[in-house]
Amino acid sequence: MIHHPNTIPPGTNIPSVVNAIIEIPKGRRSKFEIDKKTGLFRLDRYLFSSSHYPGDYGFIPQTLAEDGDALDILVMVNEPTFTGCLIEARVIGLFKMKDKGFNDYKVFGVPNSDPLFAEYRDLSSVPPHFLREVEHFFGTYKQLEGHHTEIQGWATAEAGIAEVQASVDRFVDHNKPRIPGA
Ligand SMILES: [Mg+2]
Repeated sequence: MIHHPNTIPPGTNIPSVVNAIIEIPKGRRSKFEIDKKTGLFRLDRYLFSSSHYPGDYGFIPQTLAEDGDALDILVMVNEPTFTGCLIEARVIGLFKMKDKGFNDYKVFGVPNSDPLFAEYRDLSSVPPHFLREVEHFFGTYKQLEGHHTEIQGWATAEAGIAEVQASVDRFVDHNKPRIPGA
């Protein structure tokens, strides 16, 4: 059965515990993307660069980011999940970058119920090398497409949580019924 992603709430404890719908599992080079019309996952492309996603990657439903899409999220996982998997994720940071001139921030989280991440509350728990891998991935993954992303770097858990709230608010505002002529 196909459920439209926007029938799923943005989280269980917004803005700090969110629902991440995974499009691309950690370790994959194929860029899967949800098809907004049908709710099916489609293969957008095989990355031109020979690199793979450093974590499970997807979006938070019922959010609207500054680039016009749902807010992106990267989830640090011990084992990749699968395309279409819903992960209840605790926000512990924010990765800031620009793509095509728009802010294209990635919320960063860990699975809320994973005991190996139970103590993770902010970026100080994360191995610094993992943070460098993420920076390198998002800084280079479009290079062989002749396209450059602009990396701004890591920000705090508070910044990630604020970005979730802003994107939930933006979604609500955007989908408010408008009174004709008002
Ligand atoms: Mg985006």
